[in-house]
Formats: sequence, C-alpha cells, structure tokens
Amino acid sequence: MGNIQKVRGFQDIYGENARRYRLVVDTAREIFKLYNFKEIILPYLEDISLFKRSVGEETDIVQKEMYTFTDRGGRQIALRPEGTASCVRAYIEEKLYGEGGYHKLFYEGAMFRYERPQAGRYRQFHQVGAEVFGVSSVYADAEMILMINNLLKSLNIQTRLEINTLGTFESRRNYSEALKVYFSQFRDSLCETCRGRLERNPLRIIDCKVESCREIAKGSPVITDYISEESKERFEKLLNLLDRFGINYRVNPGLVRGLDYYTDTVFEFITDRIGAQGTVAAGGRYDRLVQQLGGPPTPALGFAAGVERLMLLLDSVQEKEKLFSVISLTEDQFPKALEFIETLRKNGIKGELVLRSGSLKSMMKVADKFKADFVIFVSDRCELKDMKSGEQITFLSDGDLIDYIIRELKTV
Ligand code: ATP
Ligand code: MG
Repeated sequence: MGNIQKVRGFQDIYGENARRYRLVVDTAREIFKLYNFKEIILPYLEDISLFKRSVGEETDIVQKEMYTFTDRGGRQIALRPEGTASCVRAYIEEKLYGEGGYHKLFYEGAMFRYERPQAGRYRQFHQVGAEVFGVSSVYADAEMILMINNLLKSLNIQTRLEINTLGTFESRRNYSEALKVYFSQFRDSLCETCRGRLERNPLRIIDCKVESCREIAKGSPVITDYISEESKERFEKLLNLLDRFGINYRVNPGLVRGLDYYTDTVFEFITDRIGAQGTVAAGGRYDRLVQQLGGPPTPALGFAAGVERLMLLLDSVQEKEKLFSVISLTEDQFPKALEFIETLRKNGIKGELVLRSGSLKSMMKVADKFKADFVIFVSDRCELKDMKSGEQITFLSDGDLIDYIIRELKTV
C-alpha cells in the first residue's frame, strides 16, 4: 500500500513558507489593530443557507465551489468559503448592533473552495479580512483602502488598485435588466453557466472567465450609465480622497466582483506576478446584506486578502533571532548545560541544547544542521564560538558568559 497523501488542493505549510505565512498574518493583525479593529474568531462550519443567501445562489462559490455535507443530525453544513457572511451572521446573532456606535471586526483563518488547484489557488487557503458595520461614510471606504495599502506596503508588495462603483441596490437592478436585454441577443454563444445566469443574475456574466463570454461582454452596457447622481458623487469623493493620499488607482467599470452582496464601492488590489490568480485583496461595500440576512438596516463594508497569494509575493523571509547552541562536552555536564540554556531562554535568547552525546565533531555537526550562529561549550570552563568568524572566547564563569551574550550578542 502506498503512503497516504494530503488531499488534492490542500497544503502543508512549513519551513520558510510557515515564516511567510506568519509574517503576512502577524503584519495584518498589527495593521488591523492600528485601525482599532477587534478580532472575531469565527466557526469553520456554517449552515449552507447562510452562503446561499449572502454570497448568492448564482455565484461560482455557491454553485460549484462549496464543500458541503450533512451532519449526523441531518443539518446541511458548509465549510466556510469566505468570511464576510459569517461576520454578518455573528453581528446579527450576537446582537453586536445593540451596543451602539459602529463596529469594526477583523478575522483570519482557513477558507475552503473546491476549485482547480494551481499556483495561488488552493482548496484550502487562508484569508485575513476586516469588516465595518454601521457606517455609510465614504471616509470608511477610504480608510479601508488606506489600511490595505499600508498592509501591502509593510509587506513590501507592489500591486495596482482597481476600483469601481456598482451604485445603489436599485441602480444595480436597472443595470441588471439592461444586461439581460443585451446578453439575450447572444444567448447561443454564451457558455452554459452564463446562459443560466442570464435569467437570474446577468451581472455575473461580466465576471465570467470564459473567453467567448469575455468577448461578448466587451460590448455590454456599462454600469456608469445606470449609476445615480448621488452614487457618482460619492464615488468622486472617494477617488479624490485616494488622490489626496497619493494612492494610484484605475477606475474599471467592468469590475463587478464575484459575489452578490456588493453595492457602491468595489475594489481589488492586483498583481501580474502570479498569473491569472492576480487578485491579492478584494472587497467593497454591502449596504443591504445585514438587512437581507435578518438584521437591522446596517450599511457595511469589508475586504479579504488571500494569505497564500501574499506569501508568493514576499521577498525571502529569514529568522531574525540569533541561535545559540549549547554543547555539553561531557555526559555529566548535561545538567549544567541545560541550566545554562534555560537561563538564556529566560532572557529571551533562542537556544538549542545539542541532545546527542558523542564526539565533539558529531555534536558540532548537529549545531551546524540547526544553523547555530554561536556555539557554547560547557565543561568546567565556558567557551563561546562565533560560527561565522570562527572566533572563540573563554569565560571565567557562566555568569560572565551570559552577561556577555545579553549585552553584546542578543541582537547582533
Ligand atoms: P478569484 O477571482 O481569484 O477566484 P475571488 O473573487 O473568488 O478570487 P474573493 O472571494 O474575493 O476571491 O476572496 C478574496 C481573496 O481571497 C482573493 O482576492 C484571493 O486573494 C483569495 N482567494 C480566493 N480564492 C482563493 C483560492 N482558491 N486560493 C487561494 N486564494 C484565494
Ligand atoms: Mg474565485
């Protein structure tokens, strides 16, 4: 029998990739906190109908990408494909709105979508995301974009921003009607999925990745012609704010996003460095969703970034703390060596006690394998070897050596 392998589209994240993962998530957390977002830790499983009613019945996610099953109690369950729906559910269910003011939440964690795996596209992937509930101010849109921009800057990742407005719920509906009329002329040339979308959600056709549909979509009515004056002014205001902060963007009237719940602002941060999987962060406003899911009328907006895609764009990520490896030169000095290394750790210094006894050479090999920056030899004396320069210093007592390390070497 062969070895058991991981499930297709799932990944083990280890070594440098684990460091990349940590850097992305930790940096995002820091930035979220600077903007005073509070963490919400959401369940991985939800009632299927949550996603049907929010993400939308006609979306790729709900139609073909969700992992679903019936649990032992006969409930229809989905592994969450995204975070916004759960945030909204929690906002309503936990009655967060009851506390007055407005609410800013962030989350991180795994999402699941049954897609064709490729670079930057997996069946289990991770997102960091944030949502603002109860604010319609355009400054909230601007702040969110500034926040994502800061996150990308902190990670030293270059992207371009594409932005659009979908207008209000009503103008979106009028636009939908116009699209239906337009695409109906080309019914037979549309892909099968889009033929289905024609009746129920023609907006989705614009988002179709099939080449023939893309061609047809090029001549379709543009959303700009259906947007109310108020929405247009709002959008102008947002663009002016972005100008003011030196954020480059491109207005892309074809940007509709793959989910049903968006109104007014939608945006994507895109890179060309990972092929078709170019969107690293995406989001927008969804002023109707909370109400649609049974909550009070609550304007809201949010975004999510794909952790794996950001990981692919990072420069190499090395461990920055120096490693001190301790070698006990004789078997009976091990207790002392252990004591020594524990003292280092208590002082915030990363230590590895070589847990093999044998020749000095074999023990040095272990220290080398761990890429120790310094090796400390414990016997009746204490010696420190700098592995880079080869320099070796003898100390009169353990205390002197520890003081020296803390003073001189901890942050080399
Ligand atoms: P795409 O058009 O690439 O399929 P999407 O519009 O489905 O993206 P969203 O639902 O907006 O993506 O999710 C937000 C972000 O999560 C994406 O911009 C991307 O960075 C990431 N993401 C989405 N699906 C995957 C996946 N299968 N694997 C890895 N990252 C993903
Ligand atoms: Mg997708």
